[in-house]
Amino acid sequence: MFDCAIIGAGLAGLVAAQDLRSRGLSVVVLEARDRVGGRVENAELADGSYLELGGQWIGPGFDALLELVHKYGLETIPLPTQGGDFIVRAHGKAVQIPTDEDRATLNPFEISDLGQGLLRLRRLAHRLEDDPAWAAANHVWLGQSLRRWAKSNMRTKKAQQRFEEVYRAAFGELDEDTTLKQGLDFVGTGPDLESMLATNGKLQQLRVRGGVYRVAEALGKDLGDVVRLRTVVTKVRHSADEATLELADGEEIRARHVISTLPPRLAMNLEHEPPLPAWRAEAADKVSPGNVIKAYLLFDRPFWRERGLSGQSSADEGAVRVTFDTTTDGTTGGHLMGFFAGSEADSLSKRTTTIRERAFLESVRQSFGSDVPKPVAYIERDWSAEPYSGGCHGAHFAPGIWTAVGPGLAEPEGVLHWAGAEYTTKFNGYMEGAVRSGLSAAAAVASQSA
Ligand SMILES: Cc1cc2nc3c(=O)[nH]c(=O)nc-3n(C[C@H](O)[C@H](O)[C@H](O)COP(=O)(O)OP(=O)(O)OC[C@H]3O[C@@H](n4cnc5c(N)ncnc54)[C@H](O)[C@@H]3O)c2cc1C
Repeated sequence: MFDCAIIGAGLAGLVAAQDLRSRGLSVVVLEARDRVGGRVENAELADGSYLELGGQWIGPGFDALLELVHKYGLETIPLPTQGGDFIVRAHGKAVQIPTDEDRATLNPFEISDLGQGLLRLRRLAHRLEDDPAWAAANHVWLGQSLRRWAKSNMRTKKAQQRFEEVYRAAFGELDEDTTLKQGLDFVGTGPDLESMLATNGKLQQLRVRGGVYRVAEALGKDLGDVVRLRTVVTKVRHSADEATLELADGEEIRARHVISTLPPRLAMNLEHEPPLPAWRAEAADKVSPGNVIKAYLLFDRPFWRERGLSGQSSADEGAVRVTFDTTTDGTTGGHLMGFFAGSEADSLSKRTTTIRERAFLESVRQSFGSDVPKPVAYIERDWSAEPYSGGCHGAHFAPGIWTAVGPGLAEPEGVLHWAGAEYTTKFNGYMEGAVRSGLSAAAAVASQSA
């Protein structure tokens, strides 16, 4: 019998296993896929370069993840790697914004206006989290559009625009339907918008040279045969002092504790005996796993650099609304990454790869010009079609659900513990959240095992 059996070899499961092993406990990690990393994955290209198909950007405060990066002797790459203008396309018109003069585009009054707005937003996010009675009494006001709130709380147009750009870069979509409440849920649990804007007004993001997948790979190597790949868990039987995991091939694994790292809705695909409390199933139902197709257009060269562009763009319409230059060392080609998200991902996921490639190229041509060259390849990962992820980037908590049940989701059911990006109050949905939750679930198991 193991001290702990862990379901899933994503970042949360790997980190939890390593931590428990370092405390002298016996561990096994059961992973359905034929690789470690879960929602962190690389595609290796013929020329020796790579694409990151899942989690990629390391934001401010990702300290636990950065500790692993350094531990394994990996390097970070600051962003943007190249200079160049940023393209913003709105109301059918694309304009170039000089990235390096970003701060200069906001005068001191506008910077302080933006700062005040972000501070108010953060205070409201804390209030929403700490004061359910206030949230209930103000639910109509919280249902107003975030854009409207920003307009009435930031006096200058430039601060309002910059707010939308930073919000989008950090959390994705912001449109007329985004409510203040949804914005506050993201602000309360995601990266800190103020530190993103710190020092020079730009997003401070890092990548790992070789991809974040190298971290998962290194953890997997360290753990050796503790990780069992191609091992699908189908059922969890748990009692007061031990658990048995049933595998798809009929084998049974016994352990004193279990850490499940499956996102809430995916966890419901497993049979549990005794069944999980009804509130968990109801909450999981309201926690949508997210729907994003991460896609790359590969060009024979990074043509945008010749035009003084950074490759980064943001648009208010089209199939792909944000793009980034993710070209890495070791290639003469140019890698332009974009996301199909929300309703675009929903409808285009039902179409062919060729149609999605065309739709991406069309969006790029609208932003970068009709003379954008023909790409040499198109590569994508539709995370909703992945049976062992069920969506991405991470779960979206329907309005009110995080406040009502979010923190409770991480509470163990006896010997059954939960970890993963969706089970954490800070950095929820992010790689940092996955690592932190893995560590805290391991600490809980260790303290019960002492
Ligand atoms: C396209 C995309 C872009 C992203 N971008 C970023 C980013 O830039 N920055 C950031 O911080 N985060 C990003 N994320 C989110 C980040 O990747 C995840 O939050 C994080 O990797 C989740 O780790 P985890 O260990 O909690 O879950 P997972 O990685 O999902 O691990 C769960 C594991 O359980 C396994 N599993 C599932 N079912 C079973 C079963 N029945 N039996 C056994 N094993 C099973 C799965 O195969 C998987 O390996 C992105 C995600 C995606 C998909």
